[in-house]
Amino acid sequence: MSASATTRDRRTGPERVRDARRNGIGPDGGHGVLRPDGVDEVDVRSLRRVLERNVRGEVHFDAGNRGAYSHDSSNYRQPPIGVVLPRDADDVVAAVAACREHGAPVTSRGCGTSLAGQTCNVAVVIDHSKHMREIVQVDPDRRIARVQPGVIRDQLSNQTEERFNLTFAPDTSTHEYATFGGMLGNNSCGTHSVMAGRTADNTLELDVVLYDGTRMHVGETSDAELEEIIAAGGRRGEIYRRLRDLRDRHAEEIRARYPDIPRRVSGYNLDELLPEHGFNVARALVGSEGTAAAVLEATVRLVPSPPARSILVCGYEDVFHAADHVPELLEHGPTGLEGLDDVLIRDMKLVGEHVEDLSMLPDGKGWLLVEFGGDTTEESDAKAEECKRVLAKAKDAPDMRLYDKPANESKLWDIRESGLGATAFIPGEDDHWEGWEDAAVPPEKLGSYLRGFRGLLERYDYRTSLYGHFGEGCVHCRIDFDLRSPGGIRKWRSFVDEAADLVLEHGGSLSGEHGDGQSRGELLEKMYGPGLVGAFREFKSIWDPDGRMNPHKVVDPYPIASNMKLGHIVPPSVRRHLPTPTQRIVACAKLPPSSE
Ligand SMILES: Cc1cc2nc3c(=O)[nH]c(=O)nc-3n(C[C@H](O)[C@H](O)[C@H](O)COP(=O)(O)OP(=O)(O)OC[C@H]3O[C@@H](n4cnc5c(N)ncnc54)[C@H](O)[C@@H]3O)c2cc1C
Repeated sequence: MSASATTRDRRTGPERVRDARRNGIGPDGGHGVLRPDGVDEVDVRSLRRVLERNVRGEVHFDAGNRGAYSHDSSNYRQPPIGVVLPRDADDVVAAVAACREHGAPVTSRGCGTSLAGQTCNVAVVIDHSKHMREIVQVDPDRRIARVQPGVIRDQLSNQTEERFNLTFAPDTSTHEYATFGGMLGNNSCGTHSVMAGRTADNTLELDVVLYDGTRMHVGETSDAELEEIIAAGGRRGEIYRRLRDLRDRHAEEIRARYPDIPRRVSGYNLDELLPEHGFNVARALVGSEGTAAAVLEATVRLVPSPPARSILVCGYEDVFHAADHVPELLEHGPTGLEGLDDVLIRDMKLVGEHVEDLSMLPDGKGWLLVEFGGDTTEESDAKAEECKRVLAKAKDAPDMRLYDKPANESKLWDIRESGLGATAFIPGEDDHWEGWEDAAVPPEKLGSYLRGFRGLLERYDYRTSLYGHFGEGCVHCRIDFDLRSPGGIRKWRSFVDEAADLVLEHGGSLSGEHGDGQSRGELLEKMYGPGLVGAFREFKSIWDPDGRMNPHKVVDPYPIASNMKLGHIVPPSVRRHLPTPTQRIVACAKLPPSSE
């Protein structure tokens, strides 16, 4: 597809998306703006009227709101048709019904902190984050909580930690903003996933609504229940029957091709349908990025949150040696194991973030933050001291410091959590972007992966810091990709292919926590092969046969280099003369005319 064709070609939908992928990158460095099938035929005026009549919450179709919701924390931008902020589950159902009546796609959204373009689409965006924020139930005895999708992770965990020493373990760096809908959508993880897993591993049951209006309560399903549900028939029975058949046909391939690592986040969770995982339909839906159903309520697992923590900080000669020591540290049972390099520290000094706290780090150019938990500080200290004693015996023992005061510990976590913010826009340097930033490999192969990755970065002359959830082999980096010029976009796209090959050679996953969205959807075939990608397509069509739920994310994805926030929206003449922040404002404000 040529660049000019991208602006003149009036075809929409899967055919055009497939063409764009088949034909590689166009002469202007990308594929221009792609839209879901049939969106130009949606009667927007009527859709808005019906939404305003039937939804009790807010309905916004004005340019300001469409501009605000046209992007998330990724490199992508697509102005939505309109935005709905539902009051409750019935409102979501009413909004979906209005969209169905008009053939309009639907994209669910929480706080929009996604980094892979999951929440940008030409669709009606349903934002659950404003009104659907009720913690419905906390049962400390059963260690469960029921939440509406707009509840923020910390809103729940602050309460349960204080009252019951229980927590929802996955704590993204965005734990103060990330909603449960969004965490369930992306299968999010965090520092304390090393203690209790990804969001999928902590999900028990979901209430969902499908595009066709079916409401379902899903969770683990025994063989007897499965037979019963299928025998009862109806849409629910049909879905369970087709899921079982899909699983039976692909079981061996799923077992063979899903990497057995802690941070496999890419692809749909078809492994959760295997008999050994209890045909868990709720967990199979986690990570589906709003492409299958909208979550109306979730029942999640709470785990004990050690009231006392001690952090052992280990300084190594570089980040690669730090990574080499991860398996040995895991043997000591840490509740958190994070890594960071000297480039991140340098960047923090340049942007002036947490500078006064950086002296807390021991000598070195690569660090591991190893957290131990206990009922008392004596207990957590004892675990950390024992670890320190063992490490000190080695010839290449790291320089170590132990912290056990909450105030110091939160300073250390602030240093680690500010990784993305500190490394994105560094004065005097090119901006750094997402585009390859959360791959995961088996922890025992982390050192080898990082060395290979550093070699690849050097070959492409890219700059980045390396940090992340090292205990689970997940590495973050913000890279100074040139996402504005055609040559820069071509170079980035070629790098992404090579980086994906490197991760897969190490038995890893393209995404270790941020999800696939548009950034990685196109690469899934490399990871899973055509058979399983076909199974993903079938999984989506079982839930969403009309293909209207967040189209072209994960399955039949928009090409990685289309719908770019920077590369295609701002005309070259403007791009040359305006400073970067203005470019972004221009990019947000210049909406194509609404067809209303
Ligand atoms: C600085 C920074 C640091 C980050 N650090 C981490 C990290 O440490 N770990 C990590 O895992 N992620 C991280 N992320 C990514 C992001 O914060 C998480 O994925 C987060 O859980 C998304 O929550 P959200 O409310 O913003 O969801 P959104 O971005 O709004 O949505 C996420 C996905 O969920 C879907 N969705 C939302 N609500 C629903 C619903 N009700 N029903 C069905 N689908 C729904 C959306 O369609 C979308 O596909 C980071 C992002 C940033 C910007």
